[in-house]
Amino acid sequence: MSRFQTLDQLDVKAKRVLLRVDLNLPMQDGKVTDLTRVDRVLPTIRELSDKAAHVILLAHFGRPDGKRVEKYSLKPIGNVLAEHLGRPVSFANDCVGSAAKVAVQALGHGEILLLENTRFHAEEEKNDPNFVRQLAELGDFYVNDAFSCAHRAHASTEGLAHLLPAAAGRNMQAELEALEKALGSPARPVAAMVGGAKISTKLDLLGNLVARVDYLIIGGGMANTFLYAQGRDVGKSLCEKDLAETARQIMAKAKAVGCTIILPSDVITAKEFKAGAACKVYSVEAVPADDMILDIGPQSIAALSKLLNDCKTLVWNGPLGAFELPPFDAGTVAVAQRAAHLTKAGKLLSVAGGGDTVAALSHANVVEDFSYVSTAGGAFLEWLEGKSLPGIKALERL
Ligand code: AMP
Repeated sequence: MSRFQTLDQLDVKAKRVLLRVDLNLPMQDGKVTDLTRVDRVLPTIRELSDKAAHVILLAHFGRPDGKRVEKYSLKPIGNVLAEHLGRPVSFANDCVGSAAKVAVQALGHGEILLLENTRFHAEEEKNDPNFVRQLAELGDFYVNDAFSCAHRAHASTEGLAHLLPAAAGRNMQAELEALEKALGSPARPVAAMVGGAKISTKLDLLGNLVARVDYLIIGGGMANTFLYAQGRDVGKSLCEKDLAETARQIMAKAKAVGCTIILPSDVITAKEFKAGAACKVYSVEAVPADDMILDIGPQSIAALSKLLNDCKTLVWNGPLGAFELPPFDAGTVAVAQRAAHLTKAGKLLSVAGGGDTVAALSHANVVEDFSYVSTAGGAFLEWLEGKSLPGIKALERL
């Protein structure tokens, strides 16, 4: 973490701290359906408040497209936050202008204020310098605790770091430390496990990982494309046949750099894509023409468990099968539990994230047992792709 300032380096007592958090909570019918993001921001808010800072929260919610849209107001989320924090959180109905200024001036030491959705202003996503300046006037320090928004160069995620003394919050710090341990300077052997539906959405990611890991385990629908590229018949499985040549190039690149690609040796197939569909185990050489591959088979699970025993680091994105439809969750669950077991035994560092991965690991009941599970979707994937994230880069400059 030497490339970043953290809260340890800021003397925030009686100072106004603009704290960028991720409060883009999943909602259904006006109710928050998952509080993970709230839980993750509590430590930094508490620490700043305990250190007598004037805590000013900046966040976005939904995609209001630069206009004020009441259903995207952060006000109800402020109430949810206050409840979980166990401290009052006041609210200003704009993030700039007189409403924000008055609310900031009214703050006492240790008090917490949430400003309205930054995306109610089109200038937020444009990273407009004048808008950044207006935000910057509200604070003495900028703390970014929203890793999940770090792939966007917006005013509140990137611009502010150039105008105010800036630091990573505790959630951001934990995320960066976990990612650094997983791929920056990992204990080897290091395996990356990539599953999910299609390779077309993960080409950059596969290309980057091949160059950095010892084993690249491929599962899920995307394994079908690789199997097909090796000349296997994958029946009616999800398969991007037009990407067979790309898959072959990835395999050739892996061979050239000494990365071993691991594909399933057996699979679970069904004739219908639905929960409880009648299923059978086949070797990958013998998939019937009218079947769909929906999970990895027992022999593949055993091989992966054995491989993980020999690895020191695992980075995971994407389920190994159609995990939402039991029994096609068996491969994902078994391998997740094996990784969790090895992690608990202190033998494996396990970092997972992106898209459906968190849902898959929750389903396997292992989120708490992994070394780190990132709730960031796009930012985690861009990091796996080896891209420089603007929100991080702006902090790194310090
Ligand atoms: P992604 O968002 O790319 O990580 O893809 C996640 C989705 O891939 C999940 O909804 C899984 O159900 C789906 N998936 C995984 N394996 C398969 C498979 N063999 N066939 C069809 N869909 C799959």
